[in-house]
Amino acid sequence: MSAPATSGLIRVVLPIPLRQEFDYLSELPLPAIGCRVMVSFGNSSQVALVVGHPEQASVAVHKLKPIQTVLDPRPVLTAQDMGLLDWAVQYYLHAAGEVYFQALPTLLRKGEAADYKTISYWHNCAPGASGQALSPQAHKQRQALELLAQSPLTPGELEVRGITAGVLKGLADKGLAEKREQLPAPADWRRDYAVNEDDKPRLNTEQALAVSCIHQASGFSPFLLEGVTGSGKTEVYLQAMEPVLRQGRQVLVLVPEIGLTPQTIARFQHRFKVPIVTLHSGLSERERLDAWLACRDGSAAVVIGTRSALLTPFAELGLILIDEEHDASFKQQDGFRYHARDLAMLRARRLAIPIVLGSATPAFESLHNAHSGKYRHLLLRQRPGAATIAQHLLLDSKHVQLHAGLSPQLIQLMEGELSQGNQVMLFLNRRGYAPALLCHDCGWLADCERCDAHYTWHRGKARLHCHHCDHQRPVPRQCPRCGGRQLLGTGLGTEQVELALAALFPQYNTVRIDRDNTRRKGSFQQHLAGIREGRYQILLGTQMLAKGHHFPDVTLVALLDVDAALFASDFRATERFAQLYIQVAGRAGRASKPGRVVLQSHHPDHALLQDLANQGYDHFARTALKERQQAGLPPFSYQALFRVQAPQSEPCQYFLQALVEQLKPLLPAELLCAGPFSAQMEKKAGQFRHQLLLQADNRRQLAIAARQALALIDTIPQARKVRWSLDIDPTEL
Ligand code: ADP
Ligand code: ZN
Ligand code: ZN
Repeated sequence: MSAPATSGLIRVVLPIPLRQEFDYLSELPLPAIGCRVMVSFGNSSQVALVVGHPEQASVAVHKLKPIQTVLDPRPVLTAQDMGLLDWAVQYYLHAAGEVYFQALPTLLRKGEAADYKTISYWHNCAPGASGQALSPQAHKQRQALELLAQSPLTPGELEVRGITAGVLKGLADKGLAEKREQLPAPADWRRDYAVNEDDKPRLNTEQALAVSCIHQASGFSPFLLEGVTGSGKTEVYLQAMEPVLRQGRQVLVLVPEIGLTPQTIARFQHRFKVPIVTLHSGLSERERLDAWLACRDGSAAVVIGTRSALLTPFAELGLILIDEEHDASFKQQDGFRYHARDLAMLRARRLAIPIVLGSATPAFESLHNAHSGKYRHLLLRQRPGAATIAQHLLLDSKHVQLHAGLSPQLIQLMEGELSQGNQVMLFLNRRGYAPALLCHDCGWLADCERCDAHYTWHRGKARLHCHHCDHQRPVPRQCPRCGGRQLLGTGLGTEQVELALAALFPQYNTVRIDRDNTRRKGSFQQHLAGIREGRYQILLGTQMLAKGHHFPDVTLVALLDVDAALFASDFRATERFAQLYIQVAGRAGRASKPGRVVLQSHHPDHALLQDLANQGYDHFARTALKERQQAGLPPFSYQALFRVQAPQSEPCQYFLQALVEQLKPLLPAELLCAGPFSAQMEKKAGQFRHQLLLQADNRRQLAIAARQALALIDTIPQARKVRWSLDIDPTEL
């Protein structure tokens, strides 16, 4: 008779880029699936996540190592969360460990306990005897004891009531009060739930229809809410949330990286008397863990966050809203390259809840799904109040004398608006003084050694800066090739336009908004406040200015130089350009002040511009979608991209060549296998980059091909000389 077993097998994943799980021995009872354990791996200790309790080990039993410790008494991720992540692993064919650990805040990845931070609370040590031992002069101390007799308070809460640290120390010295560390007591928001009806507007017909469709939805129900900026989408979100919160269920609001502003948060906070947490990259590790815990245990009612918030566990999620759903920041572009919109859709389906994608310029994927009936299409065509749609003008830049990119006609239009006390917004998606520095004598161009790119000249800082690898150097005094001293900037950047504006419009103030000018913490918010208060009349900026902000006194918006976008080779470039154009245009005007949008181009007859200016985004999108269909491009087909990089070009090419040779014979004839070809910018940050594209009409076929390729890669010796990754549904080639 064998002794009863005292240990068993667990299967874990580790936060490493290997597509592999590992088995360890653990004492009984085994840690549950979703718990973290410490294990030895290689020469170090690692935090690992339990994903299974296998019957049979994947290696010989004598090779199994015991785990070191169990970190969690109960799972940090529930079966529901694990199911979503496992689906993501299968879909994106990414290393499971990296996927699972992406869903954990950094402190949990480091092995910290999954608990809130304890907080110091002052307690009254002798309730009842409040202050008898105090002299009559100790007025403040007496007041403090009375407050503490009601409930323990934090030092901050006491301070706002006028009780200083000195007063508390006096009480502590007398043994009347003491400070204790404890977990914050979570209040249940469900009992106090209330809607602030203060400035809740009466919905217009389209809004009311949208809200009632969402309210009536039961089970998984995807919506596309399409409406120009200012058409009242946010108001629809707010009212759509009401019954969900009333039922005590949580709401997740995903916003683009740049869209999470204090104003956005304030709007939600103002409407609902519930705890709202935000999840974004600006949080400290501790704040992030606390917010994560509040989602998971249900003490947060509303969670507003950027891309990664989608992976956070929720106690009881009832609704997902994605604002500016077309925004590129929802796709992660390194490591685990997921698309938060796609995973959100899956999450809503698994939970059988409604999901609303909102945008003025929906992604083609979403439009296609709306056209084909997979999503319910909700349209907001008017702006609340009077409906005025901006007038669009295309100005021909050919043969006209431009002053720092401004044509005389544009300058005249600007003068007209400014003299009436209106604001003008100029959009140029290039920061710095000039996108290149050129020797007038020999034609030499200042190029980054590490990228296939010119340095941008930042004249104010007297630096050359590569915007692709971040490398910087001083501006040379002389041409390194011919010794010439006439070094000129070519092309236009925001810094140059700003200088020109100061000379052209000395009586008006210009604010420049780009990454250079908003680096200091809080400066972006200060600029925005200055615009709203009317301190600036001319607003000049990159796409930072184009997104998420509404400037009601802007009556003229001009896009200075968009020609490059018209001739980009990437098939998504026109979609991106159209979105940007409409977003920028949407900044202009409110009902009482109709707006005008000016587009300067050397190609004013370009079909894309004509279509956008005269027919609008929807028309453009329908035409462009037809073209995509004819060309067999996404969303009418599906793509997977193998990306390869190395310090030299050849190993990348050899590796991909070997892969293609072995893969091609396995693929069905109708599956497209294109490449190897070099990335649009072959060399970036010292790395040469090459790619292989797979494209198929159905996802299953594509997934099979991608899996076959992954299996082959393990057998190709050149794989060790390069770094490679797989991008499913790539958005950038
Ligand atoms: P979007 O999110 O589409 O840009 P918002 O919801 O922010 O639009 O609405 C734009 C402005 O119009 C806001 O100031 C909002 O308070 C206001 N608004 C929205 N809906 C209405 C309405 N039905 N009646 C009056 N004002 C409204
Ligand atoms: Zn020269
Ligand atoms: Zn560079």
